[in-house]
Amino acid sequence: MATLTEVRETYPASPQRPVRVAQQRVPVRVPGWWRDAVGVGAWLSMLVVVALWISGGGIQSLGTVAGAFTSIGRLTGLVSADLLLIQVLLMARIPMVERAYGQDELARRHRLVGFWSFNLMMAHLVAIVIGYALAANLNPFVQFWEMTVDYPGMLLAVAGTLLLVLVTVTSIRKARKKLRYESWHLLHLYAYLGVGLAIPHQLWTGQEFLSSTFATIYWWGLWIAAVAAIAIWRVGVPLYRTFVHDLRVTAVVRESPDVVSVWMRGRNLLDLPVGAGQFFNWRFLSGPGWTRSHPYSLSAAPTHDTLRITVKDLGDGSHALAGVTPGSRVVIEGPYGRLHAGVRTRPKVTLMASGIGISPLRALLEELPAAPGDVTLLYRAHSQADLVLRAEIEEIATRTGARVYYLVGRRLAGRSSWLPESAASLTDAAALAQLVPDIASHDVFLCGANPWMDAARLAAIECGVPAAHIHDERFSW
Ligand SMILES: Cc1cc2nc3c(=O)[nH]c(=O)nc-3n(C[C@H](O)[C@H](O)[C@H](O)COP(=O)(O)OP(=O)(O)OC[C@H]3O[C@@H](n4cnc5c(N)ncnc54)[C@H](O)[C@@H]3O)c2cc1C
Repeated sequence: MATLTEVRETYPASPQRPVRVAQQRVPVRVPGWWRDAVGVGAWLSMLVVVALWISGGGIQSLGTVAGAFTSIGRLTGLVSADLLLIQVLLMARIPMVERAYGQDELARRHRLVGFWSFNLMMAHLVAIVIGYALAANLNPFVQFWEMTVDYPGMLLAVAGTLLLVLVTVTSIRKARKKLRYESWHLLHLYAYLGVGLAIPHQLWTGQEFLSSTFATIYWWGLWIAAVAAIAIWRVGVPLYRTFVHDLRVTAVVRESPDVVSVWMRGRNLLDLPVGAGQFFNWRFLSGPGWTRSHPYSLSAAPTHDTLRITVKDLGDGSHALAGVTPGSRVVIEGPYGRLHAGVRTRPKVTLMASGIGISPLRALLEELPAAPGDVTLLYRAHSQADLVLRAEIEEIATRTGARVYYLVGRRLAGRSSWLPESAASLTDAAALAQLVPDIASHDVFLCGANPWMDAARLAAIECGVPAAHIHDERFSW
């Protein structure tokens, strides 16, 4: 018990309120039906595809063995193509989709849809080849060869399939862990080429693609939507925001031996629909490595001309930030993220941060409007030296009347917990209830390493916080 209170520090309430900028376009909570609408849209598209297959005589063709293989091959090919395009749309950063799900969940769904699409694509290939081979009384390998060289677009489709095999194999968890993120990401981009190469064979040889005017409009519509979404939200909007806001690095400040803050100045930043707690994908044009963007959360509330991130050195990209020179131009993609003041549902809020997860929560601490005592920050770190941004946190807490508790120490051995080893005598939920007795009536914002967040979330739920009142951002997907 004493172990927790030892690290507890509270700050007196002050009548002064944090300065917030009234005209800022802060993000708001999106209605729950957005998620349902996106999900229903995806399922509907598959229903349309199956209906098109049926109306194209898919069921009648099941009468013979050869016909059945070919027909099943067509169905799996169509559903696979549909899922492939849904996959592209999921990662296109379409605002409604991005805000309804958040990028971590989208990445998980993209992965699931990706594997299904790939499996169905392989089933399509095998079934079509067997069906055609049976009908022509040919060896399947000979049939495959003839199809590849004789049918329009097939050679490109085979090349596209090989690229998709490469992308899928390198995305299997075991293989992915062995690759550097940079290498995996670069390989992953070949998926776009793979998808592109598969288009012509669908157009030139795909029966259902051209079987009716509706089918043609549907498939062309879906392809155009996917390409347009990528062009608008992954290329156009980021380039526009980068040029309009013209962000430049003003300073790089060392916060601890392995953490730096990067300060940036830009134009009309209030026009960005960003709130404290959200993140951008950043590229710093100050040397090699700018080709790959990295996601970092704002660690201070945005102002009309400044943004700041605070980053822990975890690999090549984050390490390079310490060497970014003032004056460097910054390319941004975003803002993204569901961790912002707009998702709050209750007056009382508990912010739970671990390690560099403090970054977005430090910004939220600054921006959340609250009466003294409404906001509590629980900040977990390995050692006192790892408590970055501490002076600022204490200044904000003094000004706003927020309560701050530091939980410092090594991880608890033998149990997955959000607590340090010094609190081993307490259960996760008991410790949380001790620090924030009325936690059940709070919104809880979480950020830290994934296992830590899982333990903290569980503790909050055990203390009676409904899952809908827990908001988090994951730093790795
Ligand atoms: C939404 C979000 C917000 C984040 N905010 C912060 C922050 O405020 N401060 C901070 O220090 N860190 C933050 N991170 C983590 C940070 O992005 C990674 O630590 C950093 O990109 C590592 O890159 P690297 O080249 O240094 O190391 P690498 O060795 O390349 O990567 C280390 C690990 O980081 C993850 N990672 C790397 N790049 C990406 C990427 N583009 N997208 C998703 N995951 C990636 C991978 O899981 C990888 O295994 C955030 C991550 C996410 C997803």
